[in-house]
Amino acid sequence: MGTLNRNYNFSAGPSMLPLSVLEQAASDMVNYRGSGMSVMEMSHRSKDFESIINTAEQDLRDLMHIPDSYKVLFLQGGGSLQFSMIPLNLFRNSKKADYIVTGAWAKKAAQEAAKFGTVNVLASSEKDIFSYIPKVSSENFTKDADYFYITQNNTIYGTRYTWLPETGNVPLVSDLSSMILSEELDITKFGLVFGGAQKNVGPAGVTLAIIKEDLLGFAPKEIPSMLDYKIHADNDSMYNTPPCYSIYIAGLTFQWVKEQGGVAALQKINEHKAGLLYDAIDESKMFSCPVANEDRSLMNVVFVTGDEVLDKKFTAEAKAEGLVNLGGHRSVGGMRASIYNAMPVEGVKALIDFMHRFEKNNR
Ligand SMILES: *Cc1c(COP(=O)(O)O)cnc(C)c1O
Repeated sequence: MGTLNRNYNFSAGPSMLPLSVLEQAASDMVNYRGSGMSVMEMSHRSKDFESIINTAEQDLRDLMHIPDSYKVLFLQGGGSLQFSMIPLNLFRNSKKADYIVTGAWAKKAAQEAAKFGTVNVLASSEKDIFSYIPKVSSENFTKDADYFYITQNNTIYGTRYTWLPETGNVPLVSDLSSMILSEELDITKFGLVFGGAQKNVGPAGVTLAIIKEDLLGFAPKEIPSMLDYKIHADNDSMYNTPPCYSIYIAGLTFQWVKEQGGVAALQKINEHKAGLLYDAIDESKMFSCPVANEDRSLMNVVFVTGDEVLDKKFTAEAKAEGLVNLGGHRSVGGMRASIYNAMPVEGVKALIDFMHRFEKNNR
């Protein structure tokens, strides 16, 4: 990619960031806008950092249309710590929760919650290698559940929800790790959403959690303070030192999303990019996508040749052309192209062009 020699990086995470975000960070690196120091060297209580985190929060609120009745938290511990924080904080009455298991992350989340209460796995697509999102009927939902849990985009298997379960008064909790800011969402349909930054937002180290205020304050007193959402909320994500630099980069990404026209505009581009790639796969005689048509992810496009040796050859030859990290997750093999917000349409077109040539040369 020109003189910068950057690859098209299809990694599932940590993943590509917008070039302009990296360039802004580079120009701010040793002296952040006249402060005389790097963001990495600043006190998290300084005026400069206060402005960074407040602007980041406000921009995220604008982008996701988050009402004042929700808290936005900048946490640590990745998506994985949320698997524990959710049950620890939300098991407040019946200590029961419904889970739909659509992949390895959902399964881990359910297993973690089962340490603290009763987990009812309503449906699972594990028998079919998580190649679809199971349909559920609200008659089977646990009426007195404390919450209902889904993984809205399944990073490893390339599926996503195009609908939401009708959970009534039971708060819906969603793992948005690999889809936050990729498509429009009505946040008021959820009690809590979360996601690690390293897929669509910024570097690893910060985890976003957006939680309805009326779900705060139920954590048992004996749990560690760092695991209590209310303590983080009451301290504006500054109960302890937050992951300052990751928050700063996430803030730059939020500004970039705004410059692109916001989430709705990016959704259009994402649908276009994914559409081009799925069409190329469906039209090919060599490649196929194992995922049910209606459940295909916009962010993680999974495909195979059906021959492991050929898959390996594909990812190796693609890499030599600067199309990198196209290997599928170690648990499923094949190929996976993660095409998050920051992947330009040119990157997707370069991949499709390579697929055409590879198919011709390996017939
Ligand atoms: C990556 C991922 C996780 C785990 O995130 P960590 O930040 O590594 O803990 C959880 N859920 C989904 C959907 C993911 O893609």
